[in-house]
This record gives sequence, C-alpha cells and structure tokens, in this order.
Amino acid sequence: MVVELDTSVSNEFTLAMIKPDAVAAGKARDIMHAIESNGFYIIAKKYIQLTEAEAKEFYGEHEGKPFFPNLITFMTSGPIYALCMSKIGAISAWRALMGPTNSKEAREIKPTSLRALYGTDNTKNACHGSDSTNSARREVLFYFPDISFPQLVDQGDLRKYIKK
Ligand code: GDP
Ligand code: MG
Repeated sequence: MVVELDTSVSNEFTLAMIKPDAVAAGKARDIMHAIESNGFYIIAKKYIQLTEAEAKEFYGEHEGKPFFPNLITFMTSGPIYALCMSKIGAISAWRALMGPTNSKEAREIKPTSLRALYGTDNTKNACHGSDSTNSARREVLFYFPDISFPQLVDQGDLRKYIKK
C-alpha cells in the first residue's frame, strides 16, 4: 500500500507502540483516533506480540536497570501495535501527547494525556514514543525493516511514499 503525505511541509517520523495493557483493555482504537485527531499520519502499522528476545533488544538501553525485568515481562504479556507516524515535530509532539512516563504522575500533572487516560502506573503506561531522531530511526527499522524512504537517514521531509 502506498500512502501519499502532505507535500507542502517537512515532516518528521517517530515510532509509537500501543502497549499490551492498552490493547488488552480495548483502547487501541481510541489511542489511534487521538493520534490522527492530533494531526499525525499513521504511515505503517503492525500488530505483534514481542518475544522476550525482541523486547530485550528493543529496550536494550535499559538493560541492567531495576525495572528492566518487569518491563520485559509486561511488554511480552500480550499483543501490541507498533506505529510509524509522521507529523511536523512528530517526536516531541507524540511524547507531549503521551504525557509523563508514570501514568500516576501523568494524572496529576497532565490529566488529558494518553498515559493519564489509559495507563496505570510506572510500568503499565499504555504507550511508547521514540525520544530522539536516532532512536526514531532505530525503532522504525526494528518493526519495519522494509520501509523505504530515502529521508529515513537524515530525518528530512517525508514527501516520498511508504512501501508497506
Ligand atoms: P519512556 O521513554 O517515557 O517510555 O520511558 P523510559 O524510556 O525511561 O522507560 C521505558 C519504559 O520502562 C517506560 O515506558 C515504562 O514502561 C518503564 N519504566 C521506566 N522507568 C520506570 C521506573 O522507574 N519504574 C518502572 N517500574 N518502570 C519504568
Ligand atoms: Mg524511552
């Protein structure tokens, strides 16, 4: 499938996950609706249950931290959606829409954020977003190794088309 993007502006891409808690609670559709209502294009989507090895690879930067085992158990506990999304300033815009990492904190300081609305605590927090252009590139390619747009390397505009 080929998706045509807005050719008038420069876009940025990011990788989102709708985590097992939100999928199991039947909230994936609501979250995708919020994503699109906030001006993101979902340009690739995958429904997948991570293996332990895959979850450890994806979250490799956190290996050794106290919360790592719980994170891996949680992230392999059920299916997720991985989404490659595009928007101007997508990386920071998506992290702002998600809210703080800890859903309890999110409910206190950003009650309209997705983690406030759909997450539970510091581990079960409904969604993921890349934190930099480098991690966006790595994470998009983790789920969508066949994605082909020349701008992937330099985070330039996404005026081209995405092969699914
Ligand atoms: P994110 O970028 O906001 O998702 O946060 P991090 O990259 O720091 O952590 C990755 C994921 O690990 C988070 O989304 C949480 O699911 C989990 N996590 C992070 N920090 C903690 C923590 O202090 N305690 C626990 N239990 N889980 C955490
Ligand atoms: Mg992170």
